[in-house]
Amino acid sequence: MKLITILSGKGGVGKSSIAASLAVSFSKDKKIICADCDVDASNLSLVLGADEYAEWKDISTNEKAVFDLDKCNSCKKCFNECHFNAIEWVNNKPKLKEFSCEGCGMCELVCPQNAISMKKVNNAKIGYANTKYGFEVVSAQLNPGESGSGKVVFEVKKKARERGFDVEVMFIDSAAGIGCPVIASVAGSDYAVLVTEPTPSGFSDMKKALEVIAHFKIPAGIIINKFDINLNQTTKIEDFAKINKLELIEKIPFDKQFAKALTEMVPIIKYDETYKLMFDNIKSKLLKKIE
Ligand code: SF4
Ligand code: SF4
Repeated sequence: MKLITILSGKGGVGKSSIAASLAVSFSKDKKIICADCDVDASNLSLVLGADEYAEWKDISTNEKAVFDLDKCNSCKKCFNECHFNAIEWVNNKPKLKEFSCEGCGMCELVCPQNAISMKKVNNAKIGYANTKYGFEVVSAQLNPGESGSGKVVFEVKKKARERGFDVEVMFIDSAAGIGCPVIASVAGSDYAVLVTEPTPSGFSDMKKALEVIAHFKIPAGIIINKFDINLNQTTKIEDFAKINKLELIEKIPFDKQFAKALTEMVPIIKYDETYKLMFDNIKSKLLKKIE
């Protein structure tokens, strides 16, 4: 199975829309599965028109500290060593701030009374949906206020592998940014597609995302979305791609049809037939990269 990750650095540049249409195009030639790794705000299944999950269940990828106050001698070591400021000091005893605890386990290590233990918590939901295009999309959603998104992303990729044992290509829709979920999305990929837009922030965030890819030595190419809204900035991105030996895979024009397609929950390749050729061309380029 080959893994293609779509990432952007900056959010809102059209990454999931492009991932959805690419997946539909690939599905005509290959057995594919999608992994929606944007676990803070998963929406790839919606972009693919699947508004119901075939399975959706709790998972635990994180722990939280539990205090046995009968054993506690109020030494305050846990309070002093918690780097996440997740412990309050109330009536001369520690009290956990549930939403701040990252489950690092430091307090358990330093407690001289064995008064602290780590308890697993259900911090996310995971499942899959069937799309009408003949492939599944595996998604997860972090519960409000919970942490551990990087580990949840690993669970999404693991489940996608389990569900798609005979699948040839997995499309990974990464979260925006350059944090844990992005690193977990990119790790192990065969190719990365960087989606950007010609704005200073889009370009800057794309370069940060590129650093993550470079760390893992993953070959990558660039898609400039809405390239015609700022041709000067587009030229800067193209020059950057040349200097850094990144393939410029495609330049997509600004088109209100994308927004209309999103509203209708239909990938643009299916909403407007004029985009079929464009996405089939992108597919051909990507197939050469992974085969
Ligand atoms: S597990 Fe880590 S984050 Fe949570 S209270 Fe203990 S030291 Fe703080
Ligand atoms: S480290 Fe252990 S004994 Fe010390 S205050 Fe915390 S819970 Fe109590």
